[in-house]
Amino acid sequence: MRDAIVIGGGPAGATSAALLARHGHRVTLVTRAVPPAPWLAESVPASARKLLDRVGALEAVEGAGFLPNEGNTVWWAGRPEHSERFPADEPGFHADRAGLETAMLGLARSAGVHILQGTPVREVGRDSEVWSVETGAETIRSRWLLDASGRGGVFARRDLRLKEAQTSTLALVGRWVCDGGSDAEPGHTLIESYEDGWAWSVPLSRTERCVTAMVDPRRTALARKHGLDGMLASEMEKATRLSDRLGDGRSAGKTRACPASLYGASQYAVPGALLVGDAGSFIDPLSSYGVKKALSSAWLASIVVHTALMEDEMLHAALEFYDRQEKEVYRTYRARSIPFFDDAVDAHGHPFWEVRAEAARRATGSTVAKEAPGQDPSDPVSLDSEAEAFVGDPRVRRAFEEIRDRAELGVRAGTTLSTVDRPAVVGDRIALDPHLTSDALPGGTRFVRNIDLRRLVRLAPGFDQVPDLYEAYNRDGSTADLGEFLAALGLAVGAGFLEFERSSV
Ligand SMILES: Cc1cc2nc3c(=O)[nH]c(=O)nc-3n(C[C@H](O)[C@H](O)[C@H](O)COP(=O)(O)OP(=O)(O)OC[C@H]3O[C@@H](n4cnc5c(N)ncnc54)[C@H](O)[C@@H]3O)c2cc1C
Repeated sequence: MRDAIVIGGGPAGATSAALLARHGHRVTLVTRAVPPAPWLAESVPASARKLLDRVGALEAVEGAGFLPNEGNTVWWAGRPEHSERFPADEPGFHADRAGLETAMLGLARSAGVHILQGTPVREVGRDSEVWSVETGAETIRSRWLLDASGRGGVFARRDLRLKEAQTSTLALVGRWVCDGGSDAEPGHTLIESYEDGWAWSVPLSRTERCVTAMVDPRRTALARKHGLDGMLASEMEKATRLSDRLGDGRSAGKTRACPASLYGASQYAVPGALLVGDAGSFIDPLSSYGVKKALSSAWLASIVVHTALMEDEMLHAALEFYDRQEKEVYRTYRARSIPFFDDAVDAHGHPFWEVRAEAARRATGSTVAKEAPGQDPSDPVSLDSEAEAFVGDPRVRRAFEEIRDRAELGVRAGTTLSTVDRPAVVGDRIALDPHLTSDALPGGTRFVRNIDLRRLVRLAPGFDQVPDLYEAYNRDGSTADLGEFLAALGLAVGAGFLEFERSSV
């Protein structure tokens, strides 16, 4: 009997299995011989390094020999070129999907995970709280099941998956040889929106690029008569600036198509089982955050299962926490796509974009303010959409302005400040942890913008000058971003966790 069976050896499966094995649990991972769409290239941004480090995978990925991802060059909604450069000494990665999976599986193997590769799962059953997983060759039993089988969704598809019905996306993927002669930024991911689709290109070497067009078979005017090669070529002609950048690039090998439609899940955690990574939800690759999302989901899943295996009484709270976080992550990513879709609607005015903007709004129930930058959704420790949304509240803006104008900070604990125990990640477990509440934010808030509000609110009354408070906050080794620290301080006052002692200016 195993403690956990993980289905799938992609970033989510390999990472969750490795982390659980490092906690001392007996884990079996079952996966196909090769991942779906192994020819796909994935742009992993520099911001993924923090997560890769947290899950202990940075060294393995750095050592896999992927081309450094030096940044993005974007032509979106007809606007002028926008180029974002990642730090030269800490770039992201341009990974081929099969290579990434090999690196991640190596990590799981060295953590002690028992890996069955090349034996896809055929059936999953549960009896008396024990899972049995059939591979055709053998039956494996375990206490926990982690479905990390990606779009395949071995368990998710039973009745948990919620497809996005309004939009449908197909990725046309080709490999192109480009001399790169005129490209000043050959290590960049290139992205361009056009009237009825969008294209992007990921370099795999100095001369070869993966070129992809994202189309909606119902709405994009596709050159169907010319087969997949002709369709991709015709889409690339629409992406004029990206194509210009590729110069006289030419196709090197046949074009493939793979499904890329969006979906979420009605529940991400049920007794004894979790949906991890893309098995639970799929976000638009527009963000280049699929791998990050898979890693953060895996990290949290390993904490939840570890907690449940060690502390029976925390089972319910841990499952609820996971379900809430994964729903929140999906909702936040969808919300973040709204401004991009809105801009594309304004520029291109095509149903391809209109339907996407509308579907994202419906999925998030949101009118999300364009200017609210918000928390990185792949940081599951601190994602709290209620608090994030409150950062945009006029009370926070007023508090922020008053803090700026005051000669002395002069704050004390707010009159409606209280605490309530809520599940949170504490160390390597889910535990009940005091969260702050007030009349303005009654739900219970612990972190905002990666700032520990409990610590901030405890420290603030002892300091008259914000720089001194900031220094004291960082004294435990934290490296809080100053802008985020000030946003959190503004929120603490705006939400009534803190209040001004006197109205001195
Ligand atoms: C066209 C396209 C482009 C993308 N581009 C990017 C990008 O640039 N950057 C980025 O970060 N993300 C990108 N993504 C998203 C990214 O690929 C995924 O988010 C990420 O791979 C999810 O990891 P995962 O481990 O959850 O699932 P997957 O990587 O899909 O892994 C699923 C695993 O389950 C296994 N499996 C499936 N069925 C079974 C079965 N029956 N039995 C056993 N094993 C099974 C598979 O073999 C595989 O190992 C892109 C996705 C698409 C479709």
